Amino acid sequence: MAASLRLRGAASGLRYWNRRQRPAAASLAAVCSRSMASKTPVGFIGLGNMGNPMAKNLMKHGYPLIIYDVFPDACKEFQDAGEQVVSSPADVAEKADRIITMLPTSINAIEAYSGANGILKKVKKGSLLIDSSTIDPAVSKELAKEVEKMGAVFMDAPVSGGVGAARSGNLTFMVGGVEDEFAAAQELLGCMGSNVVYCGAVGTGQAAKICNNMLLAISMIGTAEAMNLGIRLGLDPKLLAKILNMSSGRCWSSDTYNPVPGVMDGVPSANNYQGGFGATLMAKDLGLAQDSATSTKSPILLGSQAHQIYRMMCAKGYSKKDFSSVFQFLREEESF
Ligand code: NAD
Repeated sequence: MAASLRLRGAASGLRYWNRRQRPAAASLAAVCSRSMASKTPVGFIGLGNMGNPMAKNLMKHGYPLIIYDVFPDACKEFQDAGEQVVSSPADVAEKADRIITMLPTSINAIEAYSGANGILKKVKKGSLLIDSSTIDPAVSKELAKEVEKMGAVFMDAPVSGGVGAARSGNLTFMVGGVEDEFAAAQELLGCMGSNVVYCGAVGTGQAAKICNNMLLAISMIGTAEAMNLGIRLGLDPKLLAKILNMSSGRCWSSDTYNPVPGVMDGVPSANNYQGGFGATLMAKDLGLAQDSATSTKSPILLGSQAHQIYRMMCAKGYSKKDFSSVFQFLREEESF
């Protein structure tokens, strides 16, 4: 009940920014000094599929970077480009007072913030720490409390849009945290995304992201089932996709990210489901939705089913493939 009340409060206070609008002035003194020093180094931790292109967009906007990834090869490109690579999240915090983290799971985020060489070991007072990973909203709230104790600010800002949008700087950021700090976050997030939406208190960005991804998983499985059935009924897949996309079944999974090989170019289904958004990460996000549904007593019948499907896919060798490979999974399962 408490969580649903917080979400209602967040929705009523929604603020939205896109590239056509200028960021509003920040109100806190700490934010002002950070904003005035706008081209001072920005820390970036987690240079994977998403973090790599996001960090490059900050570079394009003239921000020097302080880089760390637990996998040293992920930093090499940035080192070659003249950015500073350090050997722990604590070292990032020592050198930058604005830090973005882009990590796979809650456990990785806890390690990067609160671990033996975590950000909190050397964070400066007034620093702004933005976590763009998709993690448990309860973990975001705990991290925010720890960060606050050190006199710094934490915001959750998970993203929607995938690797393509990360490359083109067109991500959507869903931001939770103290509203007075939103303008300071916008200054950086606006370099990597075309939409930056203020959702409410810490954790509400994650709440929005988890709801979006649960719907995405359900619609992707539905698209894969419909396409497979149509093909079995003798329809040409390209023609079927065209008809769906001009009809009421149209959705992002059918018109932008079609799961059937040969229907679209430039999507993971055209490349043996390589790259994109891994089935493991989708299973993780559905697990977060399941946990949140349990704690708020919300029925998610299709969300739970989608969670089991992606868990089964991971157990059967699909963990490294893009989540649209659910189409291939259905084809392999259909012999009964
Ligand atoms: P990824 O696995 O490709 O990259 C994560 C990076 O973090 C890796 O380079 C890894 O070495 C590094 N890392 C892990 N633990 C670390 C630690 N303790 N300290 C420093 N570095 C560490 O993952 P990704 O696809 O970039 O996704 C990152 C986050 O964004 C996830 O939470 C994911 O759910 C979310 N997301 C991904 C997509 C997508 O399309 N890939 C889209 C939206 C949101």
